[in-house]
Amino acid sequence: MSVTIKSENEIELMREAGRILSIVHDEMAKIIRPGVSTMDINRKGEEVIRSYGCIPAFLNYNGFPASICVSVNDEVVHGIPDKKRILKEGDIVSLDAGVVYKGYNSDAARTHAVGEISEEDKKLIEVTKQSFFEGVKMAKAGNHLFDISKAIQDYAESFGFSVVREMVGHGIGKKMHEEPQVPNFKPIGRGMKLRKGMTLAIEPMINRGAKEIWILEDGWTCVTRDSQNSAHYENTVLITEGEPELFSYNKDLA
Ligand code: MG
Repeated sequence: MSVTIKSENEIELMREAGRILSIVHDEMAKIIRPGVSTMDINRKGEEVIRSYGCIPAFLNYNGFPASICVSVNDEVVHGIPDKKRILKEGDIVSLDAGVVYKGYNSDAARTHAVGEISEEDKKLIEVTKQSFFEGVKMAKAGNHLFDISKAIQDYAESFGFSVVREMVGHGIGKKMHEEPQVPNFKPIGRGMKLRKGMTLAIEPMINRGAKEIWILEDGWTCVTRDSQNSAHYENTVLITEGEPELFSYNKDLA
């Protein structure tokens, strides 16, 4: 499959999918505190998604057993919600969610503090979020794909953090994962030219320690090899001739 350029009508549907997803994240953020289980967060997320008549995009995706990926501390992404996994003071938790609205997807992730967290983890969360916005500055028609990748990597690494290689962002639309892949590090070359109407899920995954990861025996949960914490931040982005539009981001919400 090649890269899809979205029509005005498709953009309108993706805009709505993203708007709803920003609300889903905000509602999940409100219940995060010590004592809550990762399954409680999944339940809240799914409830809000369905209350808007949407489908949780991740549920049963390649067999994933829940609606929200909930990844705690050294878990990078794809954590499986569990009612026995209780959040405690000082944890950090990454929530990744996807919404399907009238056949169109949005995808977004946030990392939150559970109660009071270490200064180092605060920095990790803040730098991961800002690395996304550094990438977004390059996300406009006429630039090249890896301009985004380089901006994310340069920013994150300037704080001594490292960028996960195995997992990358992606095109998004009728399918959750479309071409192109959007690395958070710069490969050789410049990558494809960005065009108006492309929609990308840009999603830095940033580690406090080394960049290496592995997958647990559940076949899903991705953790850092050195057991240091990791953060994730993502939005669904529309490429335009000027400022990109962030479908799943509302500055007044989580
Ligand atoms: Mg994604």
